[in-house]
This record gives sequence, C-alpha cells and structure tokens, in this order.
Amino acid sequence: MLVSRLLDAVGADAVKFAPEDLSVYAFDGYTQGRAPSAVVLPRSAADVSAVVKIAREFGEPIVPRGAGTGLCGGAVPIEGGIVISFARMNRILELDVRGRRARVQPGLVNLDLSTRVAAHDLFFAPDPSSQKVSTIGGNIGTNAGGPHCLQYGTTVNHVLGLEIVDSFGEVFTTTLDGAGYDLTAALVGSEGTLGIVTSAWVRLQRLPESVRVWVAAFPSIDAASEAVSAIVAAGIIPTALEMMDRVIAQAVEAAFHAGYPTDAGAILLIENAGFEDDMRACEEGLYRIVHANGALSWHTARSQSERDALWAGRKGAAGAVGRLAQNYYLQDVCVPRSKLPQALRAVEAAAREHRLIVGNVFHAGDGNLHPMILYDKRDPLQVAGVIETGNAILSSAVALGGTVSGEHGIGYEKREAMTQIYSTGDLATMARVRDVFDPTLMFNPEKIFPSGARCPEVRA
Ligand SMILES: Cc1cc2nc3c(=O)[nH]c(=O)nc-3n(C[C@H](O)[C@H](O)[C@H](O)COP(=O)(O)OP(=O)(O)OC[C@H]3O[C@@H](n4cnc5c(N)ncnc54)[C@H](O)[C@@H]3O)c2cc1C
Repeated sequence: MLVSRLLDAVGADAVKFAPEDLSVYAFDGYTQGRAPSAVVLPRSAADVSAVVKIAREFGEPIVPRGAGTGLCGGAVPIEGGIVISFARMNRILELDVRGRRARVQPGLVNLDLSTRVAAHDLFFAPDPSSQKVSTIGGNIGTNAGGPHCLQYGTTVNHVLGLEIVDSFGEVFTTTLDGAGYDLTAALVGSEGTLGIVTSAWVRLQRLPESVRVWVAAFPSIDAASEAVSAIVAAGIIPTALEMMDRVIAQAVEAAFHAGYPTDAGAILLIENAGFEDDMRACEEGLYRIVHANGALSWHTARSQSERDALWAGRKGAAGAVGRLAQNYYLQDVCVPRSKLPQALRAVEAAAREHRLIVGNVFHAGDGNLHPMILYDKRDPLQVAGVIETGNAILSSAVALGGTVSGEHGIGYEKREAMTQIYSTGDLATMARVRDVFDPTLMFNPEKIFPSGARCPEVRA
C-alpha cells in the first residue's frame, strides 16, 4: 500500500497520512482543492527521487509545495495524490561570497536568505510581499516578483542553476555557465509541472551604498498613474515604484501607522538605491515629474526606521485589508505602463457596475495591477459580482495589450484565461515542452493548461 511504501522509503517522521493533517494541505492562499493521500517532508533529493518513483508505480500525482502562500491554486492538489512539502529542506548549502551566489534548498524562506547573508553585505533581490514566509522553491515555481523587481528583475533573473528531480525520479542539474539550451529559465515559473526543484544556485546582490525612499501624494489615481507613465517615459527606473489608493492607505495607516497620507486620492511609494551621486539626479527628475502631474505633497523618509515603517505598511497591505471587509479577491494582471491610467479607470468602472469597493495597491512601475475587490462571501450576489468584476478586469487588461498574470502565476485559477493570450498552436507548443519533462502529466496536473488543451486534437 502507498503509505507503507512511503514510510519504508523516507521514514515515519517524514510522512503524514492522518486525515486531520492532510486536510490543511488542500489549501493555498487562493483556494481549496482535495486533501492529498499523503504528505511527504523530504530531507534530500534522494528522498524526493524515491517518492517520485513510488508515486509513478501507484499512478499518484505529485504536487510540490513551499509555504502555500500562492494566490492561484498552484500548490493545491486538485486530483489528490502526494504533496511534497519542502518545510524541512530549508538550509543554505553553500555560500560563495566572492562570487556573490549561494546554493540553497527550496524550503528556505525568502527573507531568511537575505537576513543570513546580510553580514557579507549581500541580499537576494526578489522580494514578494510574502517574503517573510514564502520559500525560494515557491518563488522559483511562480517566478515571483516584488516591489524591487522593477530594477532587479524577477526571480528568473536571479537563478543561476537548478537541481531537479524529473517525473521518473532521475536527478539532474541545469547548467550554471549558460551553454546550450537555457533549461533553468524554462523551469523557473513552471509551477511544479516540469520538475521538482531540490536545490538552486541563486545570485546575490551587493547591498547598495545609499537608499532613499519618497512618498508623493496625488489628488486622484488618475493623476498618480499619469505620473508613473511620465516617470517611465523619461527613462527613470527607480528601484521600486509602488502605488496605493486612498482605500488601502487608510487601512494600512490604521493597522501599521506607517506614515502615509490618508487624505490623498493615491500615493506613490518610490525607492531608489545605488551610489549617492546618482541619487540626487534621480530625485530631481522624480520631483519635477510628480509636480508636473499635480502632486499634492512630496516627502523624503529621513531615517532607516522611517523607511522600514513605510515598507512594512506596503508589504502588510493585504493583511490590513482584513479591517475593511469580510473577504477580498485579489486580481493580478499586467498592462503596458503607458496604459496604466486606462487600466485603472477600467478597474473602477468594473467594480462600480457591481456596486463593489475596490482597493488598489500594486507595482505601478511594472504595470502590474493588484485590485483588491472587497466583498462578503456569505452574500451570493456579491460573490457573483466579484467573479464578473475579476473577469472584466482581466479582459480589459488583455484588451489594453497586457497579460492575465503579472506575478502570481496561472495555477488552477487562471488556466482558462490562457486562451485569451495564447492561440491553440501556442498552447500546443507549451504542451510539447511539458511532454519532454513529464509525459504522463504526473506533476501538478490540472494547472496552467486550460481544460481540454491537452486533448489529442489540440496537440495535433
Ligand atoms: C500577502 C501575500 C503577498 C504576496 N505578494 C506577492 C508579491 O509581491 N509578488 C509575488 O510574486 N507573489 C506574491 N504573493 C504570492 C506568493 O507568495 C508567491 O507566489 C510565492 O512565490 C509562493 O511561494 P510559496 O513558498 O508559498 O509557494 P507555494 O504557494 O507553496 O507554491 C507555489 C508554486 O510553486 C510550486 N513549487 C513549490 N515548491 C516547489 C519546488 N520545490 N519545486 C517545484 N515547484 C515548486 C508549487 O507547486 C506551486 O505551483 C503574495 C501572497 C500573499 C499571501
């Protein structure tokens, strides 16, 4: 029987099979699937390999899991099967300070990596707002972004090589030197459908000489988004360029007392990091542009503790929204930055049509919108309205030349939306890539591909 084979292979303390233990693995930050048949907490790639071989024998699907903070159902077992949780594989295996890189296990928490290498003046740049809990494996699975990815790039730009277990239980590594096909890039963002990451070489950045954080307040979202478009058009790329509307700023202030103005229609939180000389030119350019676009105020954070408070507020925004409504649905779409004003007007119009309140807090510099639609799930009318509003926002982003996910991934939630941006031929090409790694669809089934996209006629 499956459980006894797993117990023999990886040991009693590494397998969970009691129903009350399994039920918690049916969830991620977005949705609920089925409880798995078993959860395995491996200690090594050899453990993972053994589990994959057993799963293949029993015809059980496998779902890799980091911290389960994903917002698209990626780590949720839709068909049951075995969940491999990386909670115990959370170490830094090698640190190469001179080469500014580290080999880490997938269960290492994102922020723990930066904290542990800070003594060497280094940090890991991808910083999703979930970084206090989300893992490097999950960040690789979703190609996670974050406020500072505007300048540094998303996770794919910071992964140098991977150790992977494939769907036959074979362990292989992708190259560090860049020769041949870039399989590392193909695997980053594959949401556990191509291989299971058991370790990763990641790039580390040197801590900047100087950091400035500014807050600009605007009378409206429209004015703030025109300012973002103008900043980008002027060729100024700060380290982070985040926007928050009044709904969110007020909730964050009430929760964290971060120091945001609460009477503005929208605020921009802007950071630049680098050499002190470059800082002045950047600040002058930003100051000129925000005022040309109607800024009401401009404030420079004076100390590290003030900067930390401003960022703690931004990164805690999702939690603060719990003060405003019983539930919220967080949409994640991306538009060209020049289309931000139109995209935000479309968000507002979609919510108004269903009499719903929406709060906006997002990576404005990347054109990555995160409208939070507030509702009460006990009211079926509101639930129907949220679904329609979410779909309308998604379709309007696509119509503006954008895409269906900025950073949270496709997972289970957005797989049907893939047909809005990809042709049948495009999807068939992706399916062929998947066939190379996992021809029997054992890894994370029912994710990324629209239902029906794997039918023989589509593949043909
Ligand atoms: C409050 C909050 C704020 C957030 N802010 C951001 C943000 O700013 N930017 C952003 O990008 N996301 C954000 N997210 C979404 C989420 O945190 C990210 O997608 C994160 O990368 C998920 O990491 P995790 O460890 O929780 O992974 P999980 O949710 O457990 O898994 C995510 C995906 O990766 C796969 N996976 C996990 N481990 C492995 C492995 N070892 N090998 C192969 N595949 C694996 C899973 O199967 C799944 O498909 C936020 C979420 C919350 C709740």
